[in-house]
Amino acid sequence: MPFFKVPGTVNGIAPMRKFSKGGSVNPDRAPVWHQEPGLGWHDHLRSRSNLDAPDVANKRSGTKELPQEAAPDIPELVSNSLSDERFAEHIMGLIKEATSLTEARLASLTRWDADAKMLTNYWFGSSDDQIKAYLIPIMGSILRVLRGLNPKSFLPYDAASTTSVGCSGQVDQSADAAVCPVDTNGHRILLAAQFFKRDAFNRVYGTREFLPRDSQLSILLHEITHFKDVAGSNDAYYGIRNAKSISDKTAEAKVNADSLAAHVLGITIK
Ligand SMILES: [Zn+2]
Repeated sequence: MPFFKVPGTVNGIAPMRKFSKGGSVNPDRAPVWHQEPGLGWHDHLRSRSNLDAPDVANKRSGTKELPQEAAPDIPELVSNSLSDERFAEHIMGLIKEATSLTEARLASLTRWDADAKMLTNYWFGSSDDQIKAYLIPIMGSILRVLRGLNPKSFLPYDAASTTSVGCSGQVDQSADAAVCPVDTNGHRILLAAQFFKRDAFNRVYGTREFLPRDSQLSILLHEITHFKDVAGSNDAYYGIRNAKSISDKTAEAKVNADSLAAHVLGITIK
């Protein structure tokens, strides 16, 4: 029984969605992408000079993260392709979890309870009214994006996808995922093959808490914060531990994608 019916199936058989490096979506459903050959890649962390199209904001592996113990709960997710139906079930599960966690964080911020003050202080070095007033609309924007996502919001991270969502066409091979921050109509999220090698949640065993490591869930939230209509965040400090290292610098932390993601997840580093 399909959890989520993905349009575009042929004769009742879900087409395979390739997420391998350089893979492409089913050609029957993929429009013909226009790629501007003159546009060179400029890493979004480096300066740009000649681009009209903005670069995608990537989520790379944190350089100071603990080693990942790749333990996907669905082995087929690490293969080169998976059925649209299986993909839809998995991604909607992630979205559901992200939504409920963001709702809980927003409620806590609105109450401005002890937990909210502890977490804003922990990640943004402040528990004053300004940080509260800054974060509440961002939580609302994350929820707005999450509620608009569906399996078709996710594309393979390749040159065709990055141009199709309005950014330059080059791909950072080290990235797990990417978005085009100005894609505020579509909110498309581009996923690289290595995204599926991440643990989905990285929870502390036997608890509802999260380890201070990247997970598919943290990457999803991280990417959403990049959109210009959410937080327009940057990647100045990749990785949850790097984000913690700037928690006393409020101005930087409040626009750092991993600081915002860790805050939503309520992570603290033990
Ligand atoms: Zn990023």
